[in-house]
Amino acid sequence: MEGAETPQVIVLFDGYSKTEKNFMLANCSCTLIKGPPHVIVDTMTAWDCEKLRKALIANDLSCEDIDFVICTHGHSDHIGCNYLFPKAVHIVGFSISQEDIYFNHDFKSGKEKVISDKVTVIPTPGHTMQDVSVIVKTCNGVVAITGDLFEKEEDLHDDSIWKSAGSDSEELQMKNRKKILEMADFIVPGHGPMFKVDK
Ligand SMILES: [Zn+2]
Repeated sequence: MEGAETPQVIVLFDGYSKTEKNFMLANCSCTLIKGPPHVIVDTMTAWDCEKLRKALIANDLSCEDIDFVICTHGHSDHIGCNYLFPKAVHIVGFSISQEDIYFNHDFKSGKEKVISDKVTVIPTPGHTMQDVSVIVKTCNGVVAITGDLFEKEEDLHDDSIWKSAGSDSEELQMKNRKKILEMADFIVPGHGPMFKVDK
C-alpha cells in the first residue's frame, strides 16, 4: 500500500484567461503538492501574495514549510509571489537556484529533475523555449502540472487557443502536448481548471 508520503495535488487557485475589449484578464493555476517534500507550482502575480499565504494556512502549511517553488516558465503571472518562499529551492523554467547559488542542470538535453520518487520536473518547451512540467504520481493516477503547454481543457479541440496564447515553437509545443497526454491521467493547465485525460 502507498503510505502517507504519497503526494496530494491540491489546486489552490484555478487559472483563467479571457480577452476584454482593450486588455486581457489572466492569472495562472496555482498548485500545492502536499508531501513532504512540499511544493508550490506557479505563484501567480505579485498582487496575489496575501491570498496565497492564506490558502497555505488553510492547508495547514506556512510559507516556511515549502521545500520547492517550481515555475513552469518565467512569465510575470507565474512567478509573482516567489519571494514568499526564502527557504525553498526555486526552479523557474530551466533555472534552478537557492539564494545566489545557481545549480547546473541540463534540462536543455531533456534531463529530468527528480524532486522525490513521486515528483519529477521535465522539460516541455514550446510556449517558451524553457518551459517545464511537474509530473506527480498520486493515489488517483499521474497528474501533470503543465503551465501554458496547455492553456485550458478547451484547447484540446481548438489549437487556436494555445497558439494565440503565445508559442515560441508550435512544433515543439505540439510534440510535448502529445507526450504529456500519453503519460498523464489528469492535467492542471496554465489558465483553466484541472481536467481528466480521456484515454
Ligand atoms: Zn501564463
